[in-house]
Amino acid sequence: MVDLSKFIREIPDYPKPGILFRDITPMLADPEALAAAAKAMAEPYVGEKIDIVAAAEARGFIFAAPLAIQLGAGFVPIRKPGKLPFDLHSFAYELEYGTDELQIHVDGVKPGQRVLLIDDLLATGGTMEACCRLLERCDAEIVGCSFLIHLAQLGGEDRLNPYKCHSVLTYD
Ligand code: IMP
Repeated sequence: MVDLSKFIREIPDYPKPGILFRDITPMLADPEALAAAAKAMAEPYVGEKIDIVAAAEARGFIFAAPLAIQLGAGFVPIRKPGKLPFDLHSFAYELEYGTDELQIHVDGVKPGQRVLLIDDLLATGGTMEACCRLLERCDAEIVGCSFLIHLAQLGGEDRLNPYKCHSVLTYD
């Protein structure tokens, strides 16, 4: 069994003073750790009917495609403005300073399709909450949200209520 926590590098004061950034790139570069991480993120959903795995750029994409393949699902991207070419649903959300926006193709997910949402890390939950709102606009059925890392003190899970969250590594 691979100890994934050994592959997460902690970078103090990045991208701003006071932030301890969890850098997953050492884990991505290790073949066994990468495979173990993707397997552990998918594990609670194996055997469930999942039609679509959806994720926001950029780090969510890294895990979404291998999870989609493992779960026999398709992949749908959620992107920043200006990146998707067809008709869109958009959702703007608050950041610490300013706002950000995420978008999905209106026909990316069909009404009633069962969707698993993926990201590398759950912090305040703002990014994943925006993804949930976009999938709700598509009338999708959100099966749950799966993360590699959960920073539990930031309260992100509460923000995603009532959706089920699964995380491989939790930091208090
Ligand atoms: P949230 O919206 O506050 O939950 O932040 C989660 C998003 O920010 C995810 O898409 C992550 O990729 C990114 N993120 C926030 N903190 C970190 C970190 O320490 N390491 C890697 N990504 C992070």
